[in-house]
Amino acid sequence: MSRLVVVSNRVALPGQSMAGGLAVALQAALRERGGLWFGWNGKSVRGPGGNLEQQDEGNIRYATVDLSRADLDAYYNGFSNRTLWPLLHFRLDLVDYDRATREGYRRVNAMFADRLAPMLREDDTVWVHDYHLIPLAALLRERGIGCRIGFFLHVPMPSADLLMAMPDHQRLFSGLYAYDLLGFQTRRDNDRFQSYVRLYGGGEVVGKDLLQAPGGRRFRTGVFPISIDTAHIASQAAAAVNKPAVRGLRTSLEDRLLAIGVDRLDYSKGLPERFHGFERYLQRHPDQKGSLTYLQLAPVSRGEVNEYQMLRNHLEQIAGHINGAHAEPNWTPLRYVNRNFPHATLTGFYRSARVGLVTPLRDGMNLVAKEYVASQDPENPGVLVLSLLAGAADELREALLVNPHDLDGVADAIASAAAMPLARRKERWHAMMEHLRKHDINAWRKDYLSALESA
Ligand code: ADP
Repeated sequence: MSRLVVVSNRVALPGQSMAGGLAVALQAALRERGGLWFGWNGKSVRGPGGNLEQQDEGNIRYATVDLSRADLDAYYNGFSNRTLWPLLHFRLDLVDYDRATREGYRRVNAMFADRLAPMLREDDTVWVHDYHLIPLAALLRERGIGCRIGFFLHVPMPSADLLMAMPDHQRLFSGLYAYDLLGFQTRRDNDRFQSYVRLYGGGEVVGKDLLQAPGGRRFRTGVFPISIDTAHIASQAAAAVNKPAVRGLRTSLEDRLLAIGVDRLDYSKGLPERFHGFERYLQRHPDQKGSLTYLQLAPVSRGEVNEYQMLRNHLEQIAGHINGAHAEPNWTPLRYVNRNFPHATLTGFYRSARVGLVTPLRDGMNLVAKEYVASQDPENPGVLVLSLLAGAADELREALLVNPHDLDGVADAIASAAAMPLARRKERWHAMMEHLRKHDINAWRKDYLSALESA
């Protein structure tokens, strides 16, 4: 087996707390075969940046670079977060395009390629993650690297007409043609990318998931829905019910049911629409009034970006309005909390909730949906209300699927979930849980790597 090299914007260094299942899965893949993890170390420096630091732990080498403040601003805060993130989430209206940040993005990718190229061997397998690093393979190829390089996109791939609206789109997206395998979350993402290549990208689709770039280079695409460490989350959730924070939450509900939402405060998550959907539920289902409390956890992210500040203000206003109109002296219908919690505690919160609300306007996968299912008590599982526009909807067919723009539909789904008899809850949950046990994060990375190696 060849050595694995993982490249991602952030690297989970030994000893740093590793948020999320992805870091754990990549670590496991690296440990299995030995390898290198390369990326930004999270530091911004006064000088020019690009200083390389290396450390070894077991058979894994961690090689990271720092970034100058200007590069960080252009590459990460600018082009990645203000241009590509909205574009890839179908929000052309929020795209902020600027040639200077675009050059910064390219400059940082070129610096990554300069530092990484000398460390690579002929027979390495390189796996690059996410939209921060689209040009990396092409820049490595320019530096003489011929080994297998794969890319995985953790966010949606939008329609061809949206991609082509970005100035100079071909220069950026044709960078993807230098990879050997492009992995997407869902079939729809895969197909939309192929349409782009055909219509505006100058390339051709020459076989099933086999594409050809203008110069004749061939590469593959494929569908690899990312997942969670299902068994680990299930046992974490079972243990978490004894944590003081989880007990405290349960006690505070008195005899009421709980609906939970857990999302980074981001406009892709459909939070204003969800709040309005909940308000509609209170209006349309007065028979259930006072029987269900909705807890929304939404830690602030990218708080320095204007659109995120506006979203935050907007949500505070709607939350205040809903509680003002519907609260009783002894009951607050909506609890809105801008805080992070340890992941184990979160699983205990999920398990305490009869209803899980996951209603993004667009999401690559939405791991929260899978975490909610994996955290349920098999003897008394809750019901997932899931947006059709989340990647997870392709797999979790037994959720109550809703269109997040249809407020009446969301309202009625909340009411059905809250009233669903135990036998039907169990039936739906079992089907989803069986799928998640089989298709967990380890199956995901193994599938991807074996596809890359045979590409
Ligand atoms: P995204 O990657 O867009 O943030 P996902 O749903 O795919 O969306 O993944 C979000 C991850 O962040 C999940 O693993 C979730 O548990 C975690 N998370 C979200 N909100 C919180 C919070 N308040 N506290 C701790 N972890 C959180």
